[in-house]
Amino acid sequence: MSLQFFNTLTRRKEPFEPIHPGQARMYTCGPTVYNHAHIGNFRTYVFEDLLRRHLKVKGHRVTHVMNITDVEDKIIREACARGIELDQGDALNPPERIPLDEVTEPFLAAFHDDRRALRIEDAESYPRATRYIPQMVALIRKLMEKGLCYESEGSIYFSIQRFPRYGCLSGHRLDSMKAGARVDQDEYEKDDARDFVLWKGRREGEAFWKTELGEGRPGWHIECSAMAMEILGESFDIHCGGEDNIFPHHENEIAQSECATGKRFVNYWLHSRHLMVEGKKMAKSEGNFFTLRDLIDKGHDAITIRFALARQHYRDSLNFTFEGLKAAGEERRRWTDLLLRLEEITAPGAVSESLRDAVANSDREIEAALDEDLNTPQAIAHLHELTTEANRRIDSGEMTAAESAAVVGVFRKWDSVFAVLPEGRGSLDAEIEALIEERLAARKSRNFARADQIRNDLAARGIILEDTAQGTRWKRG
Ligand SMILES: [Zn+2]
Repeated sequence: MSLQFFNTLTRRKEPFEPIHPGQARMYTCGPTVYNHAHIGNFRTYVFEDLLRRHLKVKGHRVTHVMNITDVEDKIIREACARGIELDQGDALNPPERIPLDEVTEPFLAAFHDDRRALRIEDAESYPRATRYIPQMVALIRKLMEKGLCYESEGSIYFSIQRFPRYGCLSGHRLDSMKAGARVDQDEYEKDDARDFVLWKGRREGEAFWKTELGEGRPGWHIECSAMAMEILGESFDIHCGGEDNIFPHHENEIAQSECATGKRFVNYWLHSRHLMVEGKKMAKSEGNFFTLRDLIDKGHDAITIRFALARQHYRDSLNFTFEGLKAAGEERRRWTDLLLRLEEITAPGAVSESLRDAVANSDREIEAALDEDLNTPQAIAHLHELTTEANRRIDSGEMTAAESAAVVGVFRKWDSVFAVLPEGRGSLDAEIEALIEERLAARKSRNFARADQIRNDLAARGIILEDTAQGTRWKRG
């Protein structure tokens, strides 16, 4: 079966046919770097990572661009509150560092640390909006030349009535919108569809650039159109984001880009649904708002968090619970423990036909599940079935080393998508060593409950600890 995705634009599943066969060009809306990304953001970024990894398994060469929004309303407000220099310089002759970097760079570095902890692969490019001001200015000028925008009080607005397809992505109807009504904010509600701002003229107390359009700064929506087309070309394959990006952000990206080029901007729009925590919308006021760092500080493991985010299909809303996180940890442990067992097997002998069939079936079913709009829960269910079957064969003493290698092969292949297993025998050992270190630290700080818990957890995995005068040793029991 071929790879297919649910396309928000057409509202149906479609086979994936890239513009250039064998190459997948995708753009994903990245973080706004004015605070730490929360787990709702990471749900989307993990989905996009699973997508890029599966595209690679399917043999595509992936060019993935994730932008960094380092200028928009909230960042400007923060910079203003901190009294940071307002003049960001000449857009065509930019200095190496700009004053706004003082607000954004610590959060940009933190974002990369967080995504690496979650094993989110490096994208091919992470363009920062502040480094693409000339491209945004050029795009706005193009739209002005075509008579699609107008100026008011020094700012430039896109006239949505001039793009008859406006609403094609979100389903918003153009005839219900107020002609000539304008909106200046970067984010606004669906009921509020109106002419949106491309360029904000300089305002008292706000950061600005000196450009051909005069002094001012770009609106948020033009940033993504300019960076996407600069790096990926005027038409490319996939654009992703969270469902809250559909309107107005992605709707506006389509309008600006397609009006400027007269070409289809993106062929496949993929959106992940939102994340709730313990059944409620995540909100600081509810006390259920978590960044990745909050969860790690509570003692949760980043890879288990990745698994908890990947276990739900991306188009279903995800109810993140601590119970679910625990279950994700246990499921992951089942796979890790199986790998430990498999690596111990040394029995000679060939691969039996029944095992060869079982492995080939699993492999086929997992691939078919992921091909079907990235159905991760289905693929994981097949890996669990294989786990049960492999454990049964080991228990009955019928597994040979060659068979063990065949099972490990399927797990390793699909872990190139899920990325939740230790990275090889050495790192399994490293995981155990790390737990022994943690137990030692717990004992030193007289946290005996934690120390005992680690010993018991390891025992449950068949790892026996021996405390000696020279330190703690371990062996497989
Ligand atoms: Zn964007």
